[in-house]
Amino acid sequence: MTQAPVIGRFAPSPTGDLHFGSLVSAVGSYLEAKCAGGVWLLRVEDIDPPREVAGSSERIINDLHRLGMTPDGAVLYQSSRYDAYQHAINTLLASGLAYPCACSRKDLPESGIYPGTCRNGIAPGKEPRSVRLHVTGDSCEFTDKIQGLVNDSPAGISGDFIIQRADGLYAYQLAVVVDDAFQGVTQVVRGADLLDSTSRQICLQKALGYKTPDYVHPVSY
Ligand code: GLU
Repeated sequence: MTQAPVIGRFAPSPTGDLHFGSLVSAVGSYLEAKCAGGVWLLRVEDIDPPREVAGSSERIINDLHRLGMTPDGAVLYQSSRYDAYQHAINTLLASGLAYPCACSRKDLPESGIYPGTCRNGIAPGKEPRSVRLHVTGDSCEFTDKIQGLVNDSPAGISGDFIIQRADGLYAYQLAVVVDDAFQGVTQVVRGADLLDSTSRQICLQKALGYKTPDYVHPVSY
């Protein structure tokens, strides 16, 4: 039986230059993919213009190149993918797995866990602001190559989480899932600071009918 090729990726946000932590993810994802005879892709996650630092995506790409890490294929810029994100949101809304929400940050409890206020409809007189994914209470189990067995529950981490922000921008959780599927990514290596995003991303992958890649979360620096 032939094994599917490994497709790894490094997906920096252009919010600053490469630093030790992001370099660990870059080198880790590169080596994991290359050692398996696979390919390594580069995706610039430039979906949050207010947080972007001018020139940082060019500097990140140049630094990687200088270090000998050249991606297999063209760099994918998330700013070119808005139609795909909107399509995913429309699909989730149409299937009832996502819903418009009128709440603002000040409506949330101190825990930050969304209590589902707009899940069954927006209260009269209120306007939709964001779009949230409806999460169930189910726990989500996955095996991380470094962290081992992880058992997280999106309901306990965030509750129904935002996939399109009140400012109209697409949320990281949505964009990363749509693009990992679009690029056929089979293995995600990234800092452990993103470990608790993983169960939300698996939830979205299930809702959109995508495969779940393998996860590797080294300690983040
Ligand atoms: N863009 C994210 C960051 O720079 C990483 C996303 C990911 O690897 O899933 O922190």
